[in-house]
Formats: sequence, structure tokens, C-alpha cells
Amino acid sequence: MAGSFYLSTVGRILKWARSSSLWYISTGTGCCADEVLGAMGCRYDLERFGCLPQVDPRQADLLIVSGVVSHKIAPYLKELYDEMLAPKYVLAVGACANCGGPFSSESSYSVVAGVDQVIPVDVFVPGCPPRPEAIMNGLLALQEKISGQESYRFENK
Ligand code: SF4
Repeated sequence: MAGSFYLSTVGRILKWARSSSLWYISTGTGCCADEVLGAMGCRYDLERFGCLPQVDPRQADLLIVSGVVSHKIAPYLKELYDEMLAPKYVLAVGACANCGGPFSSESSYSVVAGVDQVIPVDVFVPGCPPRPEAIMNGLLALQEKISGQESYRFENK
């Protein structure tokens, strides 16, 4: 009984630590990238949630995808994702990353209809573009998901 209590406590601490220290890389191929930059800046300050920008995917466990994902760039995005630390998470920001947006397959032959066609996505942030508050909201939803459902990452990765 004492052992299971101990394991449960350690598991909760691990989940809390993971959700509170998301180190991210960000890819921006459209106007939504400006909103992500705005959320990273001093006014909205993602760092107060424990989110630190990284330049090396091998030091990151969160990928923020914003803007159009073309068929040409998709393999490189997948490569970037594969290089990241596990467990890893993906935040899709804006209509283009979520479903192709105004450049969806009906209007363009070169755009992927959502980044989830290439890599698994944990949280979708809607909007064209979403405001920094919406991006922060998506990040908080991701933190809740990580701290509340550990089995989730095994189902989706
Ligand atoms: S969702 Fe809208 S604002 Fe964002 S990259 Fe696409 S067109 Fe631009």
C-alpha cells in the first residue's frame, strides 16, 4: 500500500514537471507565426508557464506549427518531429496548420490539409489568425492534458 502511494506520488510529480517545463521549437510559414512571436514576447510571456524556446529539436519536447504546411515541406517537418525528445507534443496554431485554411486542397494542390496528416497533433488552436491569448489558451490545454492523462501519449505517438 505504501509502495503504490509512493509510485502514484512520483507519477504525479513527473506529470507536473513535464507539463510545467515544455521546451519548444516553432515553425512558422505564414502570418500566424507573427502571433506566435507575439505570444513569446514580453507582453504575453510564455516563459511564465515554463515554456522556453529552443533552437535544437533534440532539446525540445514541444513543436509549435503555425502557417501553411506544403507537401514540399512536410517531410522536413516529420524529420524535425522525429528528432525531438520523447514524450513529445505538437500544438497546431491557426486554420492553415489545422486544416489547410484558405489554401486547403480544394483551392490549392500544394498544401497539406492539416499538419495532423504528417505528425500527431495534441492541441489545435483555431483562428485565422488566432490571437496570442488563444495560443496561450491552447498551451494551457496542453499542460492540462499532460498533467491529467499520462496514457494519452502512448495512444497517440
Ligand atoms: S491561418 Fe490565416 S493568419 Fe494563419 S497563416 Fe493561415 S492565412 Fe495566415
